[in-house]
Amino acid sequence: MTAITVAMGDGIGPEIMVAVLQILKAADARLEIETIQIGKSVYERGVSAGIEPEAWESLRRTRVFLKAPITTPQGGGLKSLNVTIRKSLGLYANVRPCTAYAPFVPTRHPAMDLVIVRENEEDLYAGIEHRQTDDVMQCLKLITRPGCEKIVRYAFEYARAYGRKKVSCFTKDNIMKLTDGLFHKVFDEISAEYPDIQNEHWIVDIGAARLADTPERFDVLVMPNLYGDILSDVAAQIAGSVGLAASANIGEHGAMFEAIHGSAPDIAGKNIANPSGLLLAAVMMLNHIGQADVAERVHNAWLTAVEQGTRTYDMGAQEHLENKLAQGTREFAAAVIARLGERPQILQAVNYANAAPPSVSTSQANTRHVAEKQLVGVDVFLHDSTRSPDCLGAMLCTMSEEAANELGMALVMITNRGVKVWPSGLPETICTDHWRCRFMAAKEGGTITHKQIVILLDTIHDLGLDFIKSENLCVFDGVPGYALGQGQ
Ligand code: NAD
Repeated sequence: MTAITVAMGDGIGPEIMVAVLQILKAADARLEIETIQIGKSVYERGVSAGIEPEAWESLRRTRVFLKAPITTPQGGGLKSLNVTIRKSLGLYANVRPCTAYAPFVPTRHPAMDLVIVRENEEDLYAGIEHRQTDDVMQCLKLITRPGCEKIVRYAFEYARAYGRKKVSCFTKDNIMKLTDGLFHKVFDEISAEYPDIQNEHWIVDIGAARLADTPERFDVLVMPNLYGDILSDVAAQIAGSVGLAASANIGEHGAMFEAIHGSAPDIAGKNIANPSGLLLAAVMMLNHIGQADVAERVHNAWLTAVEQGTRTYDMGAQEHLENKLAQGTREFAAAVIARLGERPQILQAVNYANAAPPSVSTSQANTRHVAEKQLVGVDVFLHDSTRSPDCLGAMLCTMSEEAANELGMALVMITNRGVKVWPSGLPETICTDHWRCRFMAAKEGGTITHKQIVILLDTIHDLGLDFIKSENLCVFDGVPGYALGQGQ
């Protein structure tokens, strides 16, 4: 028996969860179920995170969460429950299979059968945002080596566990050479440890176009958070099956399984919601907790029911509505239960017998190399809406020349939105009130000290300029740890 935590959710949540639990029970799933309350009613009691302490206790105890969709009330101050749970349990991998079920669910891509493995904790989703000037907002994109190693390794382990042949990585490392460059580099390193699995890298724009056009050429895809967020919705949509799509959030210390759709308040209580997305999430959960036999039985019964014409109104189906052929939620569940033990004849049957759940622990992370680090300069960001680039350049140049002995660095460049505007800027460049002023060690190949940065900021302050932040420029093992020139 495995203890799991279940939340019935809001809207259609209770109906589809009841249907799913009936199917799991009929399939002899070995589960001890703890039910918790989350969502609308909890938010309305004034709990801004939508989840109460007792519920956390259950989640920490079972570490396996089957979650029905919840309704997020509109209004400020409320936190996204999914983000809270994901962050608290360290759920670093979002796994979303996107499979076509043609001809039973209409799609232009009948051969599509892929899985998107999205990094879930980092990238632009770290939530570190700042307003820096009147004109400029900033969001910090954080990509870490341990984060990349965990997600890329998970993708390869997943491919191996489920007999998949290829892992494709999407990044934009032609532009973001350091952040996305690290993701790509780690992908290259780790893929070498899995010679039995093909690997390839795509620049995300052309990769996304290819995914939308020819999804059948992809198998497992791994990518940073933002691209994965967008492309997993695209993939679910073109598979023709948003209502059928499931997702798993996997961490070292817990996992959460859910349908990708919301609580559909428009159809709540009518016994017409499709329980398939949540059921396929439960199949992922069964595999995760080592009940691959039950997962296979349930999944094959569902495939059999679908190919024998069982469908809810959303599965392709104006004609079903008109002909009153669509089944209700309860009837759909009964149809799946009636087929437990059967295998589909037209759709591809699943075979999970050999699927040991992929697991990655931090101890598997590659040994960390501590680089030799040298501080060689600093970027100082200014808020200034009155001065021209030449005026700022002249002020800062004179200042660094006058204090040359103390500062030990010189102004080498000013950029605005990443475009060089000093020296030799173009008059056509549109400038905002946000300037990056790059100071480098005055001596070729030399270094500076933190103390000199403090003196620099102090001197800039004395000039009456408004500095809003600084970024140290370091060289790691002789390789610059900063973008060299102007943006593209
Ligand atoms: P939604 O996914 O709930 O509904 C979109 C459309 O799809 C609706 O017409 C709905 O009737 C239909 N639909 C959704 N699931 C269906 C199913 N299983 N069977 C048949 N039809 C289905 O999206 P929404 O309307 O934008 O959001 C409703 C609420 O759900 C909001 O409060 C939102 O915040 C919340 N939400 C929750 C989650 C979650 O808990 N993971 C995810 C997305 C949205």
